[in-house]
Amino acid sequence: MSVSILAASELVVVSSIPAGLAKVLALIISYCTAFLVLLWASLIIWTWRDARVRIPQRDWAILATVLVAVLWLPGVVLYLILRPPETAVNQYLKVFEAGMLNEYESRLRCPACHQPVRSDFLLCPCCGAQQRRPCANCSRLLLPQWRHCPYCAVPVAAREPVSAVAKRASA
Ligand SMILES: [Zn+2]
Ligand SMILES: [Zn+2]
Repeated sequence: MSVSILAASELVVVSSIPAGLAKVLALIISYCTAFLVLLWASLIIWTWRDARVRIPQRDWAILATVLVAVLWLPGVVLYLILRPPETAVNQYLKVFEAGMLNEYESRLRCPACHQPVRSDFLLCPCCGAQQRRPCANCSRLLLPQWRHCPYCAVPVAAREPVSAVAKRASA
């Protein structure tokens, strides 16, 4: 009984809307629908592009895109939570940089005695020759021949060359 009364009252409300207002409402509804469809399509395209640069496996990228296509905004939220934090290119670059750094470290030799040293050594552990010295201003390690700190741009006081330090250390 109450349902039929409600339906009847709704009918009255709908039929009481002027034709002009009904047209405006229809326009707004169609505009909103078009916007939501475009948003849905844009989210699918965005997810596919983002997944392709973050996920090396194509199948997983397709799965992420299907998830967004089916679940819509909740799918985007799930994808944002679960997606890899870095792009595949960045991951590759990090591995590449680490490899380059290892290669560089393994080739570093003491200029005085040619024993292997590391880039963060202040002195050669074998002959005591100076390898690096900390910047008096920012404490980052500088090569002995540098006259200016490249990190904080402060001039470095001139010091003895490495060969002189090595000679004195070996004497
Ligand atoms: Zn040495
Ligand atoms: Zn500095």
